[in-house]
Amino acid sequence: MQQLVHYFLHLGFPFIIAFIFFRKKAGLVYFIFLLTMLVDLDHLVAVPLFDPCRCSIGFHPLHSYYAIGVYIIMLFFPRTRIIALGLLMHMATDAIDCSWMQVNC
Ligand SMILES: [Zn+2]
Repeated sequence: MQQLVHYFLHLGFPFIIAFIFFRKKAGLVYFIFLLTMLVDLDHLVAVPLFDPCRCSIGFHPLHSYYAIGVYIIMLFFPRTRIIALGLLMHMATDAIDCSWMQVNC
């Protein structure tokens, strides 16, 4: 169930947002949303590389509260707005994962 919610929020939800709010450019917007998942590359500098019980938010550099603050500021600029939206949806998904961890770990 947790996996299903996770992948829906990472893949399905951005797809819905792209088609509802960016109808004409939905394909491009969805592609940009998918690219924002590259933010998870910051996990590569973590030791250990993968820990199912570690909350990404506040741990990895691009998932820090400072980074999230930058993403929120990026929302105010049309050029970076879509990227910021993708990044913030990603952070929200990871934050939901963290709340699952409190139950399962
Ligand atoms: Zn992440």
